Amino acid sequence: MTPDYHTLLLAIGLSGFCLSATLFASWMSARVERFLLSWSIGIGFIVPAVAVYGLYVDQPTVFLGVFAFLMHFVGFAFIYGASYRFRSGRSGRWRIAAVFTACSLVALPPIIAGYDGIGFIALNLLVAGCLVATAWEYWQGRREAPLPLTGIVILYLLTAISFALCAGVLLHDGRWVMGSAPVNWAENLNLVMAIIGITGIGAMSLALNQWRVADNHQRAAMTDALTGLLNRRALFDRYGDVQVNEHTAAIAFDLDSFKSVNDRHGHAAGDTVLKVFADVLRDVSGTSACIARLGGEEFVVVLDRTLPDRAHRIAERIREDFAAKLIPIGGRSITCTVSAGIAFGNAGCLSFDSLLSNADNALYMSKRDGRNRVSLAA
Ligand code: GH3
Ligand code: MG
Ligand code: MG
Repeated sequence: MTPDYHTLLLAIGLSGFCLSATLFASWMSARVERFLLSWSIGIGFIVPAVAVYGLYVDQPTVFLGVFAFLMHFVGFAFIYGASYRFRSGRSGRWRIAAVFTACSLVALPPIIAGYDGIGFIALNLLVAGCLVATAWEYWQGRREAPLPLTGIVILYLLTAISFALCAGVLLHDGRWVMGSAPVNWAENLNLVMAIIGITGIGAMSLALNQWRVADNHQRAAMTDALTGLLNRRALFDRYGDVQVNEHTAAIAFDLDSFKSVNDRHGHAAGDTVLKVFADVLRDVSGTSACIARLGGEEFVVVLDRTLPDRAHRIAERIREDFAAKLIPIGGRSITCTVSAGIAFGNAGCLSFDSLLSNADNALYMSKRDGRNRVSLAA
């Protein structure tokens, strides 16, 4: 046992504690990213686990060994749970419990039975396995933020390798009963790697969190809160400067006599009608369509790479489906209709503003001709 060893353990403890606290605070400030909470809990267990292991190094009793093992397993099970939560959005509490139980059942019997060497081999291999599984979860979700996530995956794998090396050295030496904590080059490497891993992964998790928070804000700013469709701003961000050709169609919609729905059934009923109409738009328009609520009861569907026939069919289907919908309002059902106007770009390339205004003119024709119909721009 050299003082260096204790210094390394202390460094792990301090870095782990600081990061755990920082990530916990980060989670507190925006409680959306619950994976950060699981991660903080995981590190929160690994820090005392390292402290207990430090005691075991000086005083290798079975009790301290078992205690240190258990703390490691809880910690790494939570670290794995955090990655599962990050990718799937699910809590993963059963997985955490399963990982912890499986690890304990495999590694504790040998150390209790006096085969501490086998216990340490099992501990190192199991932790390496947890870390590989963790890396795999982040790797599957890497598309969200390729750079920090690839960095996180690499750090988890390197840390996993350093644990596997510890097991490898013990296996190679074949010391099934040791009576003391293992001391070898792999153990030292493992401690250094743990410091790099914990700090690096912590820093990148924070970056990832910031990225997600910013992304959520951005998405909220682009979404209409009532219907979940794009809002006017998002539509103009996407098409504002685009010159549209003859293969692009805009279909403008305006609910008919909507004011009277509000007047007769109340504003909340009006909101329900708007949501039902948004659902019809989503169901009929297809995934490639850009659907936005411009404001009030006015909507637009923009179709790229489309033919006049298809645009007309879609508009007509939306009108028909919506008119046929029985909308439940306070114990009874009401119906509502919508008018639409279709306009196309042209070979001379039209501004998106002009396309919308042409669609609006066609919509006005539908209103003038009696509502609940689709008109084509002149
Ligand atoms: P028209 O057939 O000519 O389109 O008649 P209209 O009654 O639909 O048109 P008008 O423009 O007179 O009324 C639109 C109404 O939409 C007025 C406004 O109170 C209502 N409205 C706008 N935004 C919302 C909303 O978010 N929720 C609800 N419930 N009503 C809204
Ligand atoms: Mg209107
Ligand atoms: Mg209207």
